[in-house]
Amino acid sequence: MIDQATIERIVDAAHISDVVSEFVTLKKRGVNQLGLCPFHNEKTPSFTVSPAKGIFKCFGCGKGGNSVNFIMELEQLSYPDALRWLAKKFHIEIEEKEESQEEKALKDERESMMIVSAFAQKYFSRFLLKENEGRTIGLSYLRERGIRDDIITKFELGYCPDGKDLFTQAATREGYKMEFLEKTGLTIKRDDWVRDRFGGRVIFPVHNVAGRVIAFGGRTLTNDKKVAKYLNSPESEIYHKSKTLYGIYQAKRDITRLDKCYLVEGYTDVLSFHQAGIENVVASSGTSLTIEQIRLIRRFSPNITIVYDGDDAGIKASLRGIDMVLEEGINVKVLPLPRGEDPDSFARSMSAGELTEYIKKNETDFIKFKTQLLMGTVENDPVSKARLINEIVRSISIIPDTITRTVYIKECSRLMDVQEAVLYSEIRKIQNKQSEDHTRKEIQELQIQAAKPAAPVTARKIANPFETEEREILRILMKYFHQEVFEVEDETTHEIKTYTVGFYVLSELQNDGLVSVNPNVRSILSAFEENLENKEFDPVKFFTQHSDNEISQYASNLLAEKYIESKRWTKGGAFIETESELLYLLVPKLIQEYKLKNVKMLLKKLEHDINEASKNGETEKMMEYMNQFQNLKKVMKELSELLGFRTVS
Ligand SMILES: [Zn+2]
Repeated sequence: MIDQATIERIVDAAHISDVVSEFVTLKKRGVNQLGLCPFHNEKTPSFTVSPAKGIFKCFGCGKGGNSVNFIMELEQLSYPDALRWLAKKFHIEIEEKEESQEEKALKDERESMMIVSAFAQKYFSRFLLKENEGRTIGLSYLRERGIRDDIITKFELGYCPDGKDLFTQAATREGYKMEFLEKTGLTIKRDDWVRDRFGGRVIFPVHNVAGRVIAFGGRTLTNDKKVAKYLNSPESEIYHKSKTLYGIYQAKRDITRLDKCYLVEGYTDVLSFHQAGIENVVASSGTSLTIEQIRLIRRFSPNITIVYDGDDAGIKASLRGIDMVLEEGINVKVLPLPRGEDPDSFARSMSAGELTEYIKKNETDFIKFKTQLLMGTVENDPVSKARLINEIVRSISIIPDTITRTVYIKECSRLMDVQEAVLYSEIRKIQNKQSEDHTRKEIQELQIQAAKPAAPVTARKIANPFETEEREILRILMKYFHQEVFEVEDETTHEIKTYTVGFYVLSELQNDGLVSVNPNVRSILSAFEENLENKEFDPVKFFTQHSDNEISQYASNLLAEKYIESKRWTKGGAFIETESELLYLLVPKLIQEYKLKNVKMLLKKLEHDINEASKNGETEKMMEYMNQFQNLKKVMKELSELLGFRTVS
């Protein structure tokens, strides 16, 4: 349990821009900040952060909330764990009682797996640096490869002792459950036979974007050809190979800062680049590059340079990578390495300055790379040349941005000595084919959809008919709660009394006994009531940082809404009043509209009741309903007139 005072300290310290920019590159846009949404895939930013209100809102997928909500959503954490995450980031001490075994077991599975992984990382690191076996075998291997101590610390490298299950024993002694040791793949268990997966290997922990360990890579130190050189954690609830990039946590700041990301193949490539002072580098280790990995990079920068091994397999991999990256609208460059070199060996063979210089000189765009690579084999063979042109044109046709495409076509035309018009016509052919395929696929999907049975009615949510009005009322209350807007003259003393927006709205709602069907609306309104006299009460802060997650999200969404300022009034030409100046008109109108809608709903219900009573011959009941109906009609007429409508009878 985290006490309330600590929660407040955390929430106060965790400024929304600081928290979000840990994951998303934000650009200033007026009073707000704008970036690419981390929750859905987008190419033009619709993810907005309001530092003044302390909230975020995506106008693409609708996600919104405060700093805590953001971390909960992004890291898939529970509320208390999101608070712990923020506390750690902002260096706030949390006083909590030691967790019992039961509490440990209660944590959800993902969290348990992360906790086990964190323990394993610490165990492996300590073993590498402090234990005799770790130092003589693991550490000396890393030192031999020239890996510096600061890099070992930065990437939390480790060593798993050689032996059947030394690590597993240590973990179970500490109270970690076999279930999660197995699920993370750290321990392999068959019936009554147990073994450490990574025994005798140097350990490379894999971190997620937020810096938590989610998997491991282990390198063997034996020369036995039958033993796999690298062993990786299996896919699990917390580790999806295709969505993970090795080094992203250590690289993200520099990728953003330098607006560029180097993509290499393996763990040691990443380490060597860091050691050479180039920190904006990640590896797609253990898998060929995937769309999800590209999108992960794009959250930080749209510029990727692919650095692959200078052998045939490496070249093939980079060619495949290029088309995928292009398709995602990313600017891609290639850094060819001399034959026989890999990024690791190459970076280690020169000084940091030399490496930077080499990159600057040799980085080429993908057209040049592909052409140079394939031209050699073409020579004067027209058939092969046509095939090469087609190959390159296909890559260009994938690029979503027209301007970039045009630039590439020009370059391709020059390099390959082909007229631009010919290239354009080739591209059109490919695009026509693609759109045909696309349409066919869409039709197929529609047919599949149509064949599916409709969702059962009970699964649908009950709609709140007053949603629009209630949201607007709450928004007005949050923004103008304390603003004194209404004046009333006392009939006897002729003294003028002023009332706040909060007082006016709440007493109007109370007088008519209006109650929302939405529990969030009800609890927000009652908190307003409790604080009617409290001048210190800051509704925006109170609700957006509320410990009830549903309320804080409801409030954040409300405040972020792009409501249309329809109520702008022009007086004498150019003079336009702002919303806050018009509250004396807007607020009563809003309340009357809300009441009117309520009355209309009641009338509908009464109509139904009258019919039922008449069918059942309950005359007395019917008369009573009729009476109520007449009264309500009168109320409706009054309200409508106040609003400037004429009633249609
Ligand atoms: Zn979104």
